Amino acid sequence: MYTSEVGMTQSLLKKFLACPRACKYYLEGYRKIGLKKPMWFGSLMHYILHIWKSQLVVGNTECQPEDVLSSPLLEAYMEEQMLEFPEDVEEINKLRAVGSALLYSYAAQYAEEMKQQKWIASEIQFKEAFRGHILRGMADGIVECADGLYIIDHKFKGRQSASMASLLSRDFQVEFYYTALIQAGYDIKGFIYDVIRPPQIKPRKTETHEAYTARLLGDTLERPEFYFKRYNITFKQNELQEMRFNLLKLLDRFKTWIDMGMDDVYYSTGCAMSGGGECPYLSMCTTGDDLGYTKVETFFEELPKEKGVDNGR
Ligand code: SF4
Repeated sequence: MYTSEVGMTQSLLKKFLACPRACKYYLEGYRKIGLKKPMWFGSLMHYILHIWKSQLVVGNTECQPEDVLSSPLLEAYMEEQMLEFPEDVEEINKLRAVGSALLYSYAAQYAEEMKQQKWIASEIQFKEAFRGHILRGMADGIVECADGLYIIDHKFKGRQSASMASLLSRDFQVEFYYTALIQAGYDIKGFIYDVIRPPQIKPRKTETHEAYTARLLGDTLERPEFYFKRYNITFKQNELQEMRFNLLKLLDRFKTWIDMGMDDVYYSTGCAMSGGGECPYLSMCTTGDDLGYTKVETFFEELPKEKGVDNGR
């Protein structure tokens, strides 16, 4: 059973803020059966980029996209995924083709800049105490720039708004990660957000994966400004203090709700009406039965699942 001693992640807190009932279903372990394509694709891209960034952390600036894509680590990851989702092997292969094309064009856009930066860490898992709470999560990376350390975060977003820079500076993840990584001892100066648009081009009926990858690559290389945007976000001292204060209030609110037994109320901004996609618990919420759901024992899907690593089981 989940208790506040297990700790909380920013995504868990976001779930709670969007709808306590959905958060309760999630903490009880209910997950919709089957591959969730956008989430799965995001995880694949994070893993692909992690293989590359890990090489930069150890000083291998010669690492190329083809080294990443032929890495035994990636092969093992894909095999594991195909075993987990045997019904979706075709879809997984298609998404891998999309990911391969995107990596080549991402490298064309950013490889030189990445080589100039000093990579301190990739995929940093944290578990930090903060004013009676435990903050958990995994940051995509930390790089040292001329004026200090920056947290790198990759976001995969099909829909993007002209106000993205302002929206990102109000992303709750920023205050959560800032606070946790400063608690962990990093002198964080700011955030670098890589916002990447997954290509929506579909494969043709008779097209091979190679031909499909080549077509995707052509488009992503031709229109980098459409697919890749990078935002640097820094804050003044008073803004950081305000962020910490806000975070603390939200953490207290969440902890009270947990300690009171997760009142089964619903108030929601997330059913399907806020542009974020349909709530995965819509059918359970409206019919009261768990048909189409499975139960898992992991609280934090975004944390590593390797044996021996605590991911909130
Ligand atoms: S369908 Fe709406 S009210 Fe029900 S759990 Fe999902 S977000 Fe909450």
